[in-house]
Amino acid sequence: MGTVRNVAIAVLVISFLTFVAFFGRLPALRSLASVDMASYPGGFRRIDQKLTDGRLSAWIGRLASTLWNDRHPLVMIFFFLLLFVSEYMFLPSAWSFLTTSRKIISGILVILPYTFLWISAASDPGYITPANHSHKMTLYPYDFTVFYPGQACHTCHLLKPARSKHCSICKHCISKMDHHCIFINNCVGRGNQHWFLLLLLTTAIVTTWGTYIGLSVLSDIVRTEIPAWNALGRGFTWAQYFHIWAWTLQEKTRLGAATLLAFLTSPLVWGLLGYHIYLIWAGTTTNESMKWSDWQAEMSDGYVFRRSLPENRQKDTNIESPWTSWPVESQQIILRTEDGMPPRGPEAIGTGDWQRVWKLRDVENLYDLGFWDNLKDVFGLRYGVRPEQRAQHRLSADNGNTHTASRDSSGER
Ligand SMILES: [Zn+2]
Ligand SMILES: [Zn+2]
Repeated sequence: MGTVRNVAIAVLVISFLTFVAFFGRLPALRSLASVDMASYPGGFRRIDQKLTDGRLSAWIGRLASTLWNDRHPLVMIFFFLLLFVSEYMFLPSAWSFLTTSRKIISGILVILPYTFLWISAASDPGYITPANHSHKMTLYPYDFTVFYPGQACHTCHLLKPARSKHCSICKHCISKMDHHCIFINNCVGRGNQHWFLLLLLTTAIVTTWGTYIGLSVLSDIVRTEIPAWNALGRGFTWAQYFHIWAWTLQEKTRLGAATLLAFLTSPLVWGLLGYHIYLIWAGTTTNESMKWSDWQAEMSDGYVFRRSLPENRQKDTNIESPWTSWPVESQQIILRTEDGMPPRGPEAIGTGDWQRVWKLRDVENLYDLGFWDNLKDVFGLRYGVRPEQRAQHRLSADNGNTHTASRDSSGER
């Protein structure tokens, strides 16, 4: 039973590491990782002070800071090895049991995640540079809700285009920044988000396919090698089922472990893919969804106000591009105030009375053109918004009753 225990522990540890790498950059887990030198056990520092003059703790501190704050391919290598070693364990052991069509499908599927991993990692996620800045400014209009004109990046010293964000790891502002992904050691932005989606999709298909053919080959092996279990028929008890798995991990360690790993990791990959498809459906990004949920909190406190922007508003071309390739313009401005009173002062552009906003459904998401057009935007295709749709979009801004479900849910994260 020693092998079984070791394999089970190894598979669980790898699944756990994958889980941490997936979700490790969540704000909730951030505090865990930002442990600094001050919180090292005092004993360790005193010993290190004696032995290495404190150089070891300084080195560990620098290493931790590099791993956390700079680009490095460590997690990408882990991801690559996870795929490669599992496939190396899986395919040779399963190959002779596979039909020709399964061999062909497996052969094609196996190369796809590597291809999209490489393209996602190597491609420009949408770096904003002085040379391309004016072009990046024309991609999206400011929505005066999540993105306002006239805000400069303190590091890049460039005006931030709508939907962009500075990545402290890549040290660049990124166009339509989604998030920095440690699995591809790159940002996910306008330039590569479609490659990232294809990476998630093909990885999800590979892990599911691996689980499916792994289980099918293993159950064939179990049936031929242990006829006694065959006689049990279909009604296995849990105990018998675990017994079969234990036997499988003992006798067919490579195939069993790789199948189990595929089975445990595939829900994670499907979950992440589903989340990104949901974001596209809602017309938002990981970065923007966090801003929307901040708005949700401010709104329920009653500190948020909305009013209309004038039709055919004159843009200040020093801070806004006079036109963008996005088919709609914002019809609203949303502001929060410190005192819960309607905004006053020079920043308060727009016309009409300020209305207090209590719910996300009462504001328009300018970047939501509907699922298919949002998806076309992700894949860099032309979205064909027809004039009547523009009119409808404007209407929805006025009475706030469409594009609502997405907003509500994005705020609830
Ligand atoms: Zn920047
Ligand atoms: Zn980045």
